[in-house]
This record gives sequence, C-alpha cells and structure tokens, in this order.
Amino acid sequence: MKLLGAPVLYWCHECNLAVLDSRECPQCRGGTERIDYNFDIRPAFQYDRDLLRRTVDGQYGEGVFERIVPDGRLILFGIEFGEDESYKVFCDGHILGKLIANCGRWAFAPGSRSASLMARAVTSHTVTVSSKGQSMAVRMHRVPGEEVREADPGIVKGDTVFVRNASGAIKSFGRAMADSEGLRDCKIAVKNTSPLASSQGVPDKHHAWEETVKLNNAQLDIMVKKSSDFVREIVSRHKGVPCTVSLSGGKDSLATLLVVMKAGVKPKIIYADTHMDCGSSPLVRSIAERYGLELISCGIPEDVLYRNIERLGPPSVDYRWCCKVHQLAQFQILGMMLGGMNLTFVGQRRYESTLRMRIGNEWVNPASPNQICASPIQDWNALHVWMFLTREDAPYNRLYEHGFDRIGCYWCPVPSVTHLSRIEWDDPVADRWKECIDRYGQDKGMPQVWHDRMLWRSRKYSGDVPGVDPELLKEIERKQRIVFYRTTVSDGIASSGREFDPSELIRLLPIIGREGHMEGGSLITGDLRVSPEGCVTFQNGGDKGLRESADDIFDLSLMATFCLECTVCVHQCKNSAITFQDSGIHLDASKCNGCRECMPVCPSIRILRPR
Ligand code: SF4
Ligand code: SF4
Ligand SMILES: [Zn+2]
Repeated sequence: MKLLGAPVLYWCHECNLAVLDSRECPQCRGGTERIDYNFDIRPAFQYDRDLLRRTVDGQYGEGVFERIVPDGRLILFGIEFGEDESYKVFCDGHILGKLIANCGRWAFAPGSRSASLMARAVTSHTVTVSSKGQSMAVRMHRVPGEEVREADPGIVKGDTVFVRNASGAIKSFGRAMADSEGLRDCKIAVKNTSPLASSQGVPDKHHAWEETVKLNNAQLDIMVKKSSDFVREIVSRHKGVPCTVSLSGGKDSLATLLVVMKAGVKPKIIYADTHMDCGSSPLVRSIAERYGLELISCGIPEDVLYRNIERLGPPSVDYRWCCKVHQLAQFQILGMMLGGMNLTFVGQRRYESTLRMRIGNEWVNPASPNQICASPIQDWNALHVWMFLTREDAPYNRLYEHGFDRIGCYWCPVPSVTHLSRIEWDDPVADRWKECIDRYGQDKGMPQVWHDRMLWRSRKYSGDVPGVDPELLKEIERKQRIVFYRTTVSDGIASSGREFDPSELIRLLPIIGREGHMEGGSLITGDLRVSPEGCVTFQNGGDKGLRESADDIFDLSLMATFCLECTVCVHQCKNSAITFQDSGIHLDASKCNGCRECMPVCPSIRILRPR
C-alpha cells in the first residue's frame, strides 16, 4: 500500500547527504534531488544493518554486502505496509533494493544499481543457463526452464537470482519462479530479468547519522517551529482547557511532548497502562521525572484484560476492542476526572496509515468526546522524528534499536508475524499472554496452524493465507467470529438472535426509564415481554418506536450481562447511581433519573452492537 503525501527526502549527490525538505543542500548550497519514496522512512540501526548484512551475505555469498554498503555508510529504511515486514533500503542516495520478510524468513531483492555492484562477487543464488537462455534473459526478460543447466541450492521461489552462462559470465538478474530443485521443470524459470547496468561504484564521501542530523539542523528547526506554532495556536484557541500529552512510550509521542514543551507549554503527561506494554511503563515514569512533569496514569487491573480475552477473544487487526476498553475508555475517565474537556496532544503522523492521513491534525474521537486531540507532528515522517530525538538526546525506548518499528503492547495484532516473533519469551507478561491465547485456542478447538501462524491476528482474512488450507481458514474464521445481536423485527416481535438473562436486565431498567417484573422466566416491562431466548414481544402489536425500544432493551442487556469492566459508566453518571462490584455494574434505582448518559459511552455496546 502506498501512502499519499509530499515526499520529504532530498539528496545532495555532491555531498552524498540526506537532506530534509529542501532543494538546497545545507552543506554545499548546491541542488538536491527529490527522492519519491512514498513510504515512511527511518534510519537503520545496528540491528537492521546486521540483519541486512546477514541476509545479503547469506543469500549471495560472504562479502557481497560490503560491495553495496561499505562500512560506516548511512542506511535508511522505507517502511512498507503489508501482511509482513518489508523495507525499501536506501544508501548513498539510491534505492539499493528491498528487504522482505515472509513469516520470519528474510530475503533481499536488489535493485539494478546494487545488482551490478554485486554481480562480480556473488557466489550463491545464481542460475547457470545455456547461451540461448542468457540471451533470452537479456532480450526477452525471461529464461525458460529448459534452458536452465544448474541452479545453486537454497533458492526459494520469489528470490532474486543472477543468471550466468556456462563460462560464469553474469549479464542479468531476475525472479526465480520455483525453488532450486524445481527450476528446470518450470515453463518460465526466471522471470522479469533485467540486464545489469554499468557499474558506477560507490561514492567516497559519506556522512554518518549523527553528522547528517547536525547538517540538517536548520531544516529541523523549521519543522519544529511550525509544529510548536501549531501548539501555541491551538492552546490559545482552547483557553482554560487543561493541556495534556498522551505518552505511549513510543517515539512519536515523545517527539510530541518535546515539541509541546518547546512551545512553552508545561503539560501533564497522561498514560494508559494496559499491563501489556513493551517496557513503556517505567520509561514513561522516567520521562516525567526527567522533564519535571506531572504523570497521571490510568488503566484497569491486569486481570480484566485476560477476562476480556476470554469474553471477546484475542484482539485482532479487524477487531481491536482492546484500544476502546483499555485505552480510550480510560482516557475518557481521566478526562472526566480532569474536569470536562481537555486538550490532549498525541503523536499521530499521517505517514503511518491512510486513516491517520484522513483524520487531520485536530479531531475529537467519538469514543472519547470530552477529549480534543491534536497532533503537532502530523506532517513529520519517521526521519524527522528520529533526527529530532537524536538532536535532543531524548530517552526513547531502546527496542527501536532491535528491529521494532512500533512500540505498543506485546502482541498487538497490528505488526507483522515477523515482528511478533522477535518478542522474547522469557517474560512473565509474555508467558501469561501465551497461556491465555493457547487456552482460548483449545477452548475453541483451533487447529495447530492457528497457534503456529498466529491466525488470531485477524478475525477475517481477505484472501488466502499461504500454506493454510482455504477450507480450514474458513472454519477458523467461523470459530472466532463474534456475532452478538442484530435486531430483526416482525409482527410485533423483535429478536436479537442471542440468549440473555432477563433477571439480570431487570435491575438496569431505570436507565431507560422503565420498571419491570419477572413472570415465568420472562421480564415484563410495560407492554413488552422479554424472553431469555432474546425476543421482545410487543403485547399491543408495537408501533413505530418498536425497533428503538428493542434496541434499548438489547443494549441494556449488554451492560447487564456482558460488562467489560471499564467503569466509564460509573464515572459518567453525575448522580453516582452506578457502582462497580464483582466484575459488573450495580444500579441504585433511587438515584437514577433515566437520563441514559451512561449508555453511549459503554464500550460493550459500542463494540458488540452492529451499527
Ligand atoms: S447516567 Fe446515571 S442517572 Fe443517567 S441513566 Fe445512567 S445511571 Fe441513570
Ligand atoms: S457497563 Fe459500564 S463498566 Fe461495563 S463495559 Fe459498559 S461502561 Fe464499562
Ligand atoms: Zn551538498
């Protein structure tokens, strides 16, 4: 998926320098080349460098990496979004190629410049072809299987291979259409072959990361000024509203905090502890101490998370209930405790996702309506963030230096399988999570592939998952689907399609201004009979408000019997009519005036009722 937006990376080839947002080189004042990459971009850390070296040398032979990236060169990674991890690799002002993960196996696909630099050194991933095959590779961009004479072992379908003739001369490279053993049997063995470009070698001049940051100081100042001006403007527009920065423990929220402070604002830090964060909790505390800021933590007890997994299943990319219950609802409570509206700065950037791009830099989340959110770094890319944090010597989470592009919760379903497989297992939080997932899988009778391939990451897959039988995938999808209710109305009967306990429901009826009593297992309220089978019968045949009345009943049944223990309704009720006890809510009918304000904030209703 490509992200829209103006590219912000420029390169001075004269100085061999990465330049932020400027057509003029800050060092030689000459022109820079604009590089259209369309992806978020960040510096490669030592971990990434080692990974790239291992992948390139492992695939093409010892010493090949040095040919394309001599020691000390700055490498940049363009982060591509997809099912698994992949990075565009930049060095010396060129795209070297792509580093791609597929369920933990990394492969490097060189671009034409690096392929020509590598060609003389490759000792592996070559396919020897007939002289006819070699000329077909150059002229017709493919090599038929019958022209293949030999293939190096270890080639995996999809890998980039070099095409050589019997005397060893390499003139082109392309994509293998089968593993080593199967290449000769393919109709087309190597596809999309390109002739090698004439090699230009690598430039002598180069700049390490710290020096690149220093040389970009002026450009960075412009960006920071723009962002802190935005902070000042929005703070003055919302005079008197308490100002906070939501710190997640990630790099973007840290950059946001620093920008807000540079604008002369001393915010409070708010932090929602999900009990699943990757080292964020102590880091957030130390950041608050370092900058002398008040820290307000919120969050529900750790056990609730696990109970909610039992109720709803593991959070998935397409069903991220965790954020609504364990973060947004908690911030909402925090907002109420702070007193009405509050202005929260968050580290959201448009390059992260198309959704974030559409939202803009100021918004109110419907799930947290008393919180005005604003992102001063909306237009920054990861390179701006990293240069800024480096310049400010800011205390970022060191996991970023170990291949993590995002620091969120352990097993957040959003990152790739490769990302998840990097997580260390010698951690009590990790152990508990794994046990919980395994138990859920066993209870649901999930096949081993569900555990092995972490198929809980999605409730529904848009297409096939390689290596998983499509029928089995359908069965898995069916088992992990949660359908609560969809109201159907006919002849004065509204049906939810879900059983529930009317005796639990009766105690919450005052919320919707009703009273009731039990009669033969059913609840009678006014002219409505509510059965345990999930049916509401309208004794008088119903009227035009029938569907609304039924929806109210069904929504209330979720609060009564499927409480997710967030306590937001407790805080929302101005009459203190709701208390929270024993994993559920209790209503003091004498205090409830039926204003219903506790209903729209309830995440159980928001998550489980189809709109
Ligand atoms: S917010 Fe309080 S008073 Fe209003 S309906 Fe809910 S419980 Fe009753
Ligand atoms: S009933 Fe109250 S505590 Fe339970 S999920 Fe809804 S808002 Fe949260
Ligand atoms: Zn220059």
